[in-house]
Amino acid sequence: MGHTITAASARLVDIAVETERTDAVQSFVKQETIFVDVTTSDGLHGRGYSYTIGTGGRAVLSMLRDHLIPLLIGEEADRIEAVWHRLFASTRATTTGAITSLALAAVDTALWDVACQRAALPLWRLAGGFRRDVPLYDTEGGWLHLSTEALVEGALASQRTGLNGVKVKVGKPRGSEDLERLQAVRDAVGDDFDIMVDANQSMTSAEAIRRAHLWKDLDLGWIEEPLPADDIEGHARLTRSTSTPIAVGESMYSIAQFREYLDRGAASIVQVDVARVGGITPWLKVAHMAEAYNVSVCPHFLMEIHVSLVAAVPNGRYVEHIPQLRAITRTEMSIEDGRALAPESIGLGIDWDDDAIDDRVVE
Ligand code: MG
Repeated sequence: MGHTITAASARLVDIAVETERTDAVQSFVKQETIFVDVTTSDGLHGRGYSYTIGTGGRAVLSMLRDHLIPLLIGEEADRIEAVWHRLFASTRATTTGAITSLALAAVDTALWDVACQRAALPLWRLAGGFRRDVPLYDTEGGWLHLSTEALVEGALASQRTGLNGVKVKVGKPRGSEDLERLQAVRDAVGDDFDIMVDANQSMTSAEAIRRAHLWKDLDLGWIEEPLPADDIEGHARLTRSTSTPIAVGESMYSIAQFREYLDRGAASIVQVDVARVGGITPWLKVAHMAEAYNVSVCPHFLMEIHVSLVAAVPNGRYVEHIPQLRAITRTEMSIEDGRALAPESIGLGIDWDDDAIDDRVVE
């Protein structure tokens, strides 16, 4: 008989953005962070979390408080698959979907935190332990509202700190304007540095094919979310038309969506986000499935937890550098020679500052 969950709670915490962040379709208003805390019958305490970038946080909190948290009490904490599937099934009318997946992620990551503590292991080891240090690229200097000069400065600063690449937002009205900005960055950083671009689902398939062709001499690392996430056929057509890898995944909320993309050759890189896909349990399934297709994993955002997951799996290629938890943590993610180091501390490896979290509780 395993140890049961004796207490569980959820709360919503707002964190201001550290810098203005804009892309082709939206701006990052604030991080609504949804925490779940669980206690077990043998006295362990786990904390998981999930997030939005400014809308829907209360809906996730309600899903947890009204439906999922009460179901947790009495469950065996180490039967994570059983708990995940029971909770998923209990929300029939809102699955598969963002609110349920985000809520499940907060529960699932809390249970993994407990599992790490019971095993006395850091997450990256318990989840697979492939290698501790992983390459890092910077997104923080590539926002769409920045001038070309600022983009170039940001890329050079990232390069000086030893990071392996940068991501630049695209989606200016004309592809030639994007090209000018990207060419300036490429000229500044030279050939031995990755440049990725991100269109945040803003294009049609035809326009994306046109722009990929226009940018073909830039040797881009990938083109991210060129099309709406539900246009799988458009992604498949685009992927066949260009030598530049097509990266997708931050707007997908189930393992089956990834299977469909991979099966149809519509994704060259998967960017599975541990919160949006429903937690560590489904995240690992997507990563392993991608490995079977010989596809790399470069997860979206949440570097503080993704560093451990990328380190856990053999096809983890990149962590995205966007610090967003500094206000509510006591120590930052370690970076050495441009590579992120998965924390060796037991648990998820995030050094929460309880007082700072308490100060920011919305409800
Ligand atoms: Mg993106």
